[in-house]
Amino acid sequence: MIKYGLMNTPTLAQITRELLMAYNRFPRKQLGQHFLVDPMVLQRIIAAAEVTSDDLIVEIGSGLGLVTLELAKRANHVIAIEIDGELLRISQDVLKSQNNISFVRKDILKTDLNELTVGRHFKVVGNLPYYITSPILEALLTLKDRPEKVVIMTQKEVAERMAAAPGTKKYGSFSVFVQYYADIKLNSLISKSSFYPWPEVSSALVVLTPHKEPLYPVQDEKLFFDIMHAAFQQRRKQLRNSLADFKIEGLDFDFSRRPETVSVKDFVKLANELNDKTIYA
Ligand code: SAH
Repeated sequence: MIKYGLMNTPTLAQITRELLMAYNRFPRKQLGQHFLVDPMVLQRIIAAAEVTSDDLIVEIGSGLGLVTLELAKRANHVIAIEIDGELLRISQDVLKSQNNISFVRKDILKTDLNELTVGRHFKVVGNLPYYITSPILEALLTLKDRPEKVVIMTQKEVAERMAAAPGTKKYGSFSVFVQYYADIKLNSLISKSSFYPWPEVSSALVVLTPHKEPLYPVQDEKLFFDIMHAAFQQRRKQLRNSLADFKIEGLDFDFSRRPETVSVKDFVKLANELNDKTIYA
């Protein structure tokens, strides 16, 4: 193992580079391996997750385990999920004195988190590979038992789309999807230099708090998502055109609107009216 003198506390960047060297490893770009090397950002992640000694934390993409360690020091238990078996072994080595971590070698997209968390409340933390942000979020937000909190690092643009308000350019079906299920806060923008190696895009730290009860109850969720997706298929068109396949005549809704002006609440209203009409017609 790597040893340091008393005089010089190594930085996260040094530890990361030296671990990779000691185990003869290079970061794998195709797995989105950009390790966090900025202690301020690490602190922000920990603070945003509001980790307490009761918490079960699921960390997605635990990498070398340096974020995992800070989580494990504060939480009751951490489940570290990592697809790269070699990295997982390195982190097991590094963290062997920390006895409240379960290491799971798995592809998060093929993992049922409710099976791993067996009925316990849990939070999710992840410095995720950016190309799988949306499938991961879709899976997390539609779980039967959803996380209490999700703290994730994403590409800045994706974070902005998630948080976008109706009437803005970035507002789209992904915004509606995320905001239907969760409250979302953009915690902070994170510079490329906070990672090793630098990613090609800027990042943002995002905190999602899934709603315990739906904010606006939907009678038929499939219908709600069908309408919403159909509307955004043709972003420039008025709803009367993009929703021509649905039986919208006579509904109390302004169909001259374009989808980017329609809030989650309004999409729910529309879906419920259409549902009533179909049921009671
Ligand atoms: N948490 C570490 C590593 C972040 S890099 C840190 O902050 O430094 C992203 C990590 O996600 C990498 O270790 C990568 O191997 C892992 N990963 C990529 N695709 C994954 C998948 N489908 N399932 C689980 N982990 C994955």
